[in-house]
Amino acid sequence: MRSSRSGETAQTLILVGLILQGVELATLLLAGFLFLIIVPTFLGGLFVGLALIGVVWLVLVYLFSYARVRDGDYAGARTPTFVFAVLSLVTFALISGVLYLVAYVKLGDAEHEQGPSVAWNVATPAPPSLPPSGSKYCPRCGRPNPPGASFCQACGAPLP
Ligand SMILES: [Zn+2]
Repeated sequence: MRSSRSGETAQTLILVGLILQGVELATLLLAGFLFLIIVPTFLGGLFVGLALIGVVWLVLVYLFSYARVRDGDYAGARTPTFVFAVLSLVTFALISGVLYLVAYVKLGDAEHEQGPSVAWNVATPAPPSLPPSGSKYCPRCGRPNPPGASFCQACGAPLP
């Protein structure tokens, strides 16, 4: 799939959102383990439990949002990104929520830039490079070959 500028922006935003939530998660996990070690109460277990949910969350965002955007599937990434944005906002992960929300908008632009159909997704052929001067042209297939070549590199025909 073709990538677009908006798509790249969306990819960066989602990545930053993921990193922020990863840091929050690591903090939560560390706090949980410290609690468990120092004061073995249910609170530590609660932290660790929340952190485990957070790990699942990060994997989901990665798979359904980040990986899809990275692969150019902007249409497929839009809805999950919006859901992640809303869920982040309602759980007070405000910065990541806003980042996902902007990424969602950018994905709309990216979809537009990408065009309506995969059929347009044709790679632009590279301009033909000029053969070096003194090339031997193959009498059979016409391909240029290096000056010293005895046989054609494309078809194997003997060169004059
Ligand atoms: Zn040839």
